[in-house]
Amino acid sequence: MTTVDQTFTLIDSLIPDPLESETVPLDQSLHRILRQTIQASDDQPPFDRSSIDGYLVHQDQEATMVRILTSHFPGSMAPPTPSLGTAFRIYTGSSVPSVAALIMQEDTQTLPDGTIKLLKKPSTSLIRPRGSHFRKGATLVAAPDQLQPGSLGLLASLGVTRLQVSRLPRVAHLVTGAELVDPSQSPAEGQIRDANSIMIRSLLTASPSDLSWQTRIGDDRKDFLQSLQKALKQQPDMILLSGASSVGDQDHTGSVLQELGFQIVVRQVNLRPGKPLIIAQKGSTLAFGLPGNPLSHFVCFHLFVRRALDRWGGLPSAPLLEAELLSESDVQSDPRETWWPGHLTALHQNLTAHPLPWRDSSDLSCLAKTNALLRIPTGRKAGSPVEVLPTMAW
Ligand code: AMP
Ligand code: MG
Repeated sequence: MTTVDQTFTLIDSLIPDPLESETVPLDQSLHRILRQTIQASDDQPPFDRSSIDGYLVHQDQEATMVRILTSHFPGSMAPPTPSLGTAFRIYTGSSVPSVAALIMQEDTQTLPDGTIKLLKKPSTSLIRPRGSHFRKGATLVAAPDQLQPGSLGLLASLGVTRLQVSRLPRVAHLVTGAELVDPSQSPAEGQIRDANSIMIRSLLTASPSDLSWQTRIGDDRKDFLQSLQKALKQQPDMILLSGASSVGDQDHTGSVLQELGFQIVVRQVNLRPGKPLIIAQKGSTLAFGLPGNPLSHFVCFHLFVRRALDRWGGLPSAPLLEAELLSESDVQSDPRETWWPGHLTALHQNLTAHPLPWRDSSDLSCLAKTNALLRIPTGRKAGSPVEVLPTMAW
């Protein structure tokens, strides 16, 4: 049986290089992996700007009465510095001369004759100077990086509208099991609803990929073979198979993959939940035979499938965090290394991991609260910190 660490190393060696890059428009780049380093094409702010609604005055203006000249709205060129005793009405974001001072509207009083009284001395610090955020040429986003909504806002402000990103891995997902019905149906006795299809579709939106093919079949070996042949026509980088990865006579994953020319590189992993995991390779295509039990499916996805997707994208593997384990007595170690569903919180700058209850690998009840998997090694000593893999952005 392969250990979890050996499986990590093996996946890394099966994917030595990221996929090629491609250019995409900014508005299609969310969650994609950036492959170019972005430098500022201009100073930011690009001109001296007002940070307030109020009045622009001479830099030496004292707190006295001033006469209003005209208004300068955002979007127009900066007015000249006004002479002492006069002011321009300006707004947040208005372009202003760099040698000047500003006063907030709240710190003034308008008199019946239209002049205003300054209630305090105007300040130069209310101007946001050109280049005070960053200068032209500064590195703002370094590759590789998974693009977040905030990054896209930053890139838009710089006028970056096309980006070089990793090509999305093409993924096919084949769900097997004669007992499965669609979640919209009422199962007859002996049937259960398919939980893995939607779970995989959702997991693949967080790890960028192109799920180009997803199908559900029963347990007939011929259907299995034909479906996989169809999946292979899509030239997937990765085939995910749900169920049938164990050793029973209905468990066709291993033999069908071999019949299609795949080489099995992992048969079982010393992991709980998730022991019946198959990994196979044919050319540049990797197949993961994931155990059908939904909790095992979830754990194997986060430990191994995500790692493969990160490598194709060019990202380093998600680091394991260290946390204090709460409710020590709720956790039992096992001859197999356990990755325990849990809830991670940050308390007084320390990470704290709360193990969640689960009865067996078909028990989904913990997953609504799970945001991390807690690594419980065989023979774990109570009181020692645990390694933790977040299952959501942390
Ligand atoms: P298998 O890996 O095919 O032996 O399945 C193991 C267990 O997981 C069986 O009890 C299946 O009914 C269950 N299972 C398999 N696929 C799914 C699925 N898509 N959704 C929910 N449970 C499943
Ligand atoms: Mg099955």
